[in-house]
Amino acid sequence: MKRGIRESVAVSAALLAVLFILPLLVIVPFRSELLTREPPVDETEGEPFASGDLDSRTVLKVKSGDTVEEMDLGTYLVGVVRAEMPASFEEEALKAQAVAARTYTLYKLQTGGNHGAEADICTDSTCCQAYISEERARANWGKDADAYEKKVENAVVSTDGEAILYGGVPILAVFHSSSAGLTRAAGQVWLNDLPYLQAVDSPEAGDTIPNYYSRAEFTATEFKEKMLAVCPEADLSGSVSGWLKNAVTDSAGSVETVEVGGVTVKGAQVRTALGLRSACFEWETQGEKLVFYVTGYGHGVGLSQYGADQMAADGADYKEILTHYYTGVTVEPYVPG
Ligand SMILES: [Zn+2]
Repeated sequence: MKRGIRESVAVSAALLAVLFILPLLVIVPFRSELLTREPPVDETEGEPFASGDLDSRTVLKVKSGDTVEEMDLGTYLVGVVRAEMPASFEEEALKAQAVAARTYTLYKLQTGGNHGAEADICTDSTCCQAYISEERARANWGKDADAYEKKVENAVVSTDGEAILYGGVPILAVFHSSSAGLTRAAGQVWLNDLPYLQAVDSPEAGDTIPNYYSRAEFTATEFKEKMLAVCPEADLSGSVSGWLKNAVTDSAGSVETVEVGGVTVKGAQVRTALGLRSACFEWETQGEKLVFYVTGYGHGVGLSQYGADQMAADGADYKEILTHYYTGVTVEPYVPG
């Protein structure tokens, strides 16, 4: 009997203890939420971006207008991917863009870049790479802002530190919007060839890309003024119909060279002089006007962004996309020494 009473006392004590302790166990972990008036943090937005371990080791001086701001590589790259590729693109395409932008940045760091001691890189797309803040990107994205920002940040963090290497060093990872079904070798567009920037097939579907086919027309006076600015020795007298001749094109129709007023120039120079969207063009004369029909957008060298999006939609991952567009490269973690 005595033993039974002792047992029931012990059981009662244990039950009492549980009665008092259990609520504490439930409440204590949430005490801060119960005692503060701040609403709980919404996990889907407002969390500050944190770079991955490797990207956070590189700090950049980024020039924007007259100001120079220091930020780590990952934070910078999120701003570049926001600006350089539509965030509606496939996640693997965004990752390929993040790695290309990281590689381009590391290449600039190692080769000195365009800004001397003042800055490592700038936010002007015609000089270095475009960059926009989260605030501006969100204003452009509207209702999709949360999802898009998350996709872009993920593209950078999930490829932390990875770069495109040729012979163990970061490449000049140039990219463009869309090609005419074939990218172009560096030497076809610029002065020098690079082994990893060769012409390769590109699968973008033209009819789904905005302004993939464009048209530009110039009066004889306009054409003469623009061309003579870059090619003063061209003889642009006589009838307009004889001014452009003997275009040499690649198999996709991009103009390698063309004779302008008797002088052979690169298609890329004509593109720049006239402000055409690409060097994949044909032309016809209409009376005293020259009309150009242009395919694709950009210089056509390296990664095609719309081609990357198509490859991703067809199941390729970012490494497959990058090793397709850049010849003979590897994609690996790389931290500048
Ligand atoms: Zn720059």
